[in-house]
Amino acid sequence: MSEQHRSDDAGRAAEGDGRAIVIEGATVVTLDPGRREFAGHVVVSGNQIVAAGPGPAPAYEGARVVDGRGCLLTPGFVNTHQHLYQWVTRGLAPDAGLFRWLTTLYPAWAGIDEESVHVAAQGALAQLALTGCTTAADHHYVFPRAGGDLLAAEILAAAEVGLRFHPARGSMDLSEKDGGLPPDSVVQDRDEILIATEAAVDRWHDPSPGSMLRIAVAPCSPFSVTGELMREAAELARRRGVRLHTHLAETTDESDWCADRFNCTPSEYADSLGWVGPDVWFAHGIHFTDTEIKRLGQTGTGVAHCPSSNARLGAGIARVADLRAAGAPVGLGVDGAASNEAGSLLEEVRHAVLFARARGGPEALTVRAALEMATLEGARLLGRDQEIGSIEPGKLADLALWRLDTLPHAGIADPVAALVLGAPPPLDLLLVNGRPVVEQNHLITIDEPTIATQVARAQQALLAKAG
Ligand code: ZN
Repeated sequence: MSEQHRSDDAGRAAEGDGRAIVIEGATVVTLDPGRREFAGHVVVSGNQIVAAGPGPAPAYEGARVVDGRGCLLTPGFVNTHQHLYQWVTRGLAPDAGLFRWLTTLYPAWAGIDEESVHVAAQGALAQLALTGCTTAADHHYVFPRAGGDLLAAEILAAAEVGLRFHPARGSMDLSEKDGGLPPDSVVQDRDEILIATEAAVDRWHDPSPGSMLRIAVAPCSPFSVTGELMREAAELARRRGVRLHTHLAETTDESDWCADRFNCTPSEYADSLGWVGPDVWFAHGIHFTDTEIKRLGQTGTGVAHCPSSNARLGAGIARVADLRAAGAPVGLGVDGAASNEAGSLLEEVRHAVLFARARGGPEALTVRAALEMATLEGARLLGRDQEIGSIEPGKLADLALWRLDTLPHAGIADPVAALVLGAPPPLDLLLVNGRPVVEQNHLITIDEPTIATQVARAQQALLAKAG
């Protein structure tokens, strides 16, 4: 395909021209039930995959044809844990562990507002899209009194960038004066939180098939939230049929805090409050006992593994092989950009493999298992594995086309190894719900340099406000 043809296509597609898209000649890793991999075609019509198989595609009149030779086509990645607002508070406390890092950052976070959250979300979601992500979960838990409608700000950003979005309405109600970690300035009253959370479900949650927007309920962590809020949040989520998310078992400091206060582990504490089951997924899940891992597997409780953030904060590394062997779904997450400045979901796939093997030996995690965590298992955490996470006719057209025939990758025998273990390859095309979001390694939905300038300005303003 000529460059002229490509740019013409990009312009039309950004507006959604309704033509079928035929991707020809790529190596396709389907992650379908047979785990088929083939050199062949995938056809997209509307927001769905309508055909996938070896060899050339059948003729589709008027379709846009994408030359996928030299490329690897994977399902779009699913990010299962992130704090988008942190994109404008990167690079602070770069050498601190979790509790000191948090207490350094809370004053800056106390100043966030609609404008800074909107631009931060644009920046973070743009980076996710450029690293293969098509569905993004976010966990937003800081709602300063004068901040405005922060959930609306990030939902707008997700629509502008063009990603499928699962914002989790977070919360904190346990401040320093009550024995928690955060200052009073960033916590809310429990009743106010529950009312706002249910209002978010009423206003935004779309349970319909193919949904681009679903809400989850997400009190922040054991050391920033009361047990009452955890229990009532679980009741609310189950009454409304939405999912539950929180941070759990991230550091030994958290384990010590739970032991001192409740005489149990973080996992036992969460379990006692009703936080277990296939509708629950925990961020991190590093410090679990064998018994706890078995229970997570038996109940289908999920874990969002965030290897880069965990390493950056020196928190440890989750027992991914043991969790998966026990049957617990494990997805991947970049976590907030304040503890993972890269914000790259592809990098998490690589780090998941490397850190699992550094911890558990060469057989701890295969490159294909890591790819599955980034796609199908992540979709399962969000309750979307019937719709996304694999390349099969009838599934939604969330696809990433990676170019593997340039200098860094040409000659790597296994294309999945090239993607997971090699340098980050150019992303030739990213489709979300059948719509092109990235073309030729650039976003076509928003202007990258404009966002970069706005992010830098927002960070300066926020730090000036925090004094
Ligand atoms: Zn987090």
